[in-house]
Amino acid sequence: MGRIREKRQWILLLAGLVLLAVLLVLFAVRAQLQRRSQSKSSTTFCMSTVVDQRAYGANAEEAMQKVEQALRDFEDELSLYRAQSDIAQINAAAGGQPVAVQPQTLALLQQGKELALQSENAFALTLAPLTLAWGITSETPHVPPQSEIDALLPFVNDNDILLDAKNGTVQLVKQGQAIDLGGIAKGTACNVARAIYTENGVDSALLSIGGNIYAHGAKPDGSEFRIGFRDPSKSAGVSIASFTLRDATCAVSGGYERYFEENGVRYHHILDPETGAPAESDIVSVGVVDADGTVADFYSTTLFVWGKEKALAYLSGEGTGLLLDAENNLYVSRALQASFELVEDDYNVVFL
Ligand code: AMP
Ligand code: MG
Repeated sequence: MGRIREKRQWILLLAGLVLLAVLLVLFAVRAQLQRRSQSKSSTTFCMSTVVDQRAYGANAEEAMQKVEQALRDFEDELSLYRAQSDIAQINAAAGGQPVAVQPQTLALLQQGKELALQSENAFALTLAPLTLAWGITSETPHVPPQSEIDALLPFVNDNDILLDAKNGTVQLVKQGQAIDLGGIAKGTACNVARAIYTENGVDSALLSIGGNIYAHGAKPDGSEFRIGFRDPSKSAGVSIASFTLRDATCAVSGGYERYFEENGVRYHHILDPETGAPAESDIVSVGVVDADGTVADFYSTTLFVWGKEKALAYLSGEGTGLLLDAENNLYVSRALQASFELVEDDYNVVFL
């Protein structure tokens, strides 16, 4: 009898230990899952705009810090306003000798020039003399005299950007010419971030840089990131529609992003290379989605200058995005339809 009781006690003890071990494993797995699904966020000011990040996983914080640093380096390298940047040096040497630049600067100029030459004169990297004349990003933006605009327009010609891949140099043909990468900088910054998330083993992150949003992968639970689209005439932060985004950048352009007023007239920051003045667009806001942030950013600016008719032809064909006009028509590309949701009712949604 005694031995049987002893045996039963042993079995009970063993069962208890097994149960304890199972519970411990379960707790560890749950903690691990929680850690993986926990998001970290960071906000900083860089490239003249707010940069917001949200990332998941063990390396999230470290990767976000690296992204912040990389974007500062990127700005130092490419801003026409930083005297030591590759771009400022190219501009300073315009009409003179070729300038040796970083390989990534050359690669971006190559891609930017190629895209710009496809824009049918809506997008020009050599628009800088006019951006500077208008003081678009300065403390004192102003309307330049027409004579000044007329004198600067002949400098706008992206064929005058001479790229020598073999020697790693760039040259602007005429003195007075200058490059401004503002139209593709933020989208390109999304590509910079993507590389860092990938290198650091971050599978899931969302980056917002001045209206450009990059979704890296999906959320840890597998659901995709949902992106909001705003009507600039409504209060900031309120989305009128949303859609999902994965491993792609959505770049948004509109006259509302940056502007100034003079004598009661509003002047915005997207210039028409043909007139040297703010583009007279019938588009309120346009968002373009592409796996390559540079391409998305290029097209958002270009579509705004093109205007509604030509922009809609692009968004119904090879392009993906959405476009809001002044009559509250919201046009949505086929590729976005499956996940598209209208948040505010007072818009007429047109699926392309
Ligand atoms: P985004 O916000 O991407 O539409 O870019 C606007 C910025 O690009 C401006 O602040 C200028 O620096 C530059 N930009 C303005 N108009 C043009 C244009 N037509 N082509 C290329 N860059 C432009
Ligand atoms: Mg752009």
